[in-house]
Amino acid sequence: MSPSDLSDPAAPTVIVAGAGMAGLVAARQAQAAGARVILLEKGDAPGGSLALSGGTLWCAASYADLRRLVPLGDPHLGRILVEEFAAGVDWLREQGVTLSRQPSLPDRVVYLMQPGPRAAVAQLVDAFIAAGGTLHTRSALAGLATDAHGAVTGALVHPADGLRTLYPAHAVILATGGFQANPELRARYFGPNADRLILRSNPHSTGDGLLLAQAIGAAGSRAMSSFYGHLLPAPPAVVPTHDFIAYTHYHTAQAVLVNRLGARFTDESLGDETSAQAVARQPDALAFVIYDAVVYRDFAVRAAGGGARASDTFHESAALGAPTVQAASLGELAAGLEEFGVYAPGLLETLHAYNAAVAAGAAHRLAVPRRDHAYPLTTPPFYAVGLTPGITFTLGGLAVNGDAQVLDRRGLPIPGLYAAGADAGGIHNAQYAGGLCLGLVFGRRAAQHAVAAAPRGNAAAQG
Ligand SMILES: Cc1cc2nc3c(=O)[nH]c(=O)nc-3n(C[C@H](O)[C@H](O)[C@H](O)COP(=O)(O)OP(=O)(O)OC[C@H]3O[C@@H](n4cnc5c(N)ncnc54)[C@H](O)[C@@H]3O)c2cc1C
Repeated sequence: MSPSDLSDPAAPTVIVAGAGMAGLVAARQAQAAGARVILLEKGDAPGGSLALSGGTLWCAASYADLRRLVPLGDPHLGRILVEEFAAGVDWLREQGVTLSRQPSLPDRVVYLMQPGPRAAVAQLVDAFIAAGGTLHTRSALAGLATDAHGAVTGALVHPADGLRTLYPAHAVILATGGFQANPELRARYFGPNADRLILRSNPHSTGDGLLLAQAIGAAGSRAMSSFYGHLLPAPPAVVPTHDFIAYTHYHTAQAVLVNRLGARFTDESLGDETSAQAVARQPDALAFVIYDAVVYRDFAVRAAGGGARASDTFHESAALGAPTVQAASLGELAAGLEEFGVYAPGLLETLHAYNAAVAAGAAHRLAVPRRDHAYPLTTPPFYAVGLTPGITFTLGGLAVNGDAQVLDRRGLPIPGLYAAGADAGGIHNAQYAGGLCLGLVFGRRAAQHAVAAAPRGNAAAQG
């Protein structure tokens, strides 16, 4: 394999590692800015988690909205995210990606990739190749070369079936998608139950960007113990990779979650993505979602939409083998859950206290307050499903500045090194306001700065 031969010999060379959302955006943007670009993809094909996603490209509507949705996120990076999202949407459309504006809550701006995210991947890849870009699939970034000053001067590339090769470059953009597929890193940052989490992403995001950058002195961001994910049917169920969304229990926000002790442990109305992190801290990373016939009808059974197929989450989870109980009364439900190790007397006490508080309009005063969507458990039949968090991407990663430059442990940029998408951490923290938007905005920022900062005609461009 040899680097791309772009006609301008003085064009800077930019290597982008990872051909998912951030990588495809960065690669196209770097080309447009005048670089010759080598795009590395560890998997068999480009797309990453972008290709598995719902394709809902969304962002907070304003900086104030973002601060409310993600109060612990980095304020400086968050402001850039919100302010540059609209320009990113226009730019993505110019690349040929079809985006339709969706109705939404007033605090968000939402677009849907049409006809789906795989079409967006194909569009970006085709445009990249047509503009002279080089894409190497089954080729992982395996190391970063530096000069005596610590500046990045190239990348070690490991093809799946070949020898490691060093590619000189003016800049390397890390877009490897986070570390959710690395159980050892999950245990390091998330703690004891981390190996029980279900991978709800592409399988290749094993933290390569984080580890390789740390090896040359990069600093980690805040939010290292925080992730974005959703609750999925617990083992022995095995959720098919291509169908994550159909099995996602988004409706835990309208239901009640209990742990094995039968106790509630989080305000479910904060959202399923927040509850997923709370479940990761419960015994065996296991929780049971409980709801009645009204919530089943209105939320647990979903029509097709937002890039997902129609699904009946209860019956489909049962068919996969997840722990499930359907019962005519709460007492019968608690007895049924004993088989799965739930402490039934504790559970009944919890459910009765919850119902009493909801009836009195005082759910927000429960020991574990319930501030919103407090549906009572009153209409039989009652349902319970055992759930385990599925991790989609990590919210912590490399420390970056507003130009997506990776920072060292003194807080100074490492020349020639950038991170975008899930590899850049701390923009969201504990809560989340869109994953694709991070790759769009910071993939472009990284590429623009990398090309602008590169000296033209430097020997590093010779491959
Ligand atoms: C089921 C599901 C639904 C989702 N729905 C939405 C949604 O509707 N809206 C939303 O905003 N977000 C959604 N997301 C999240 C979104 O897909 C991610 O936030 C986004 O794709 C992250 O972009 P990224 O570029 O950081 O990583 P990815 O898109 O995952 O790309 C990372 C790429 O890097 C590659 N890679 C890893 N290591 C190396 C290496 N060493 N060298 C070369 N390549 C490497 C991987 O193979 C992968 O292709 C969803 C995710 C899933 C799984």
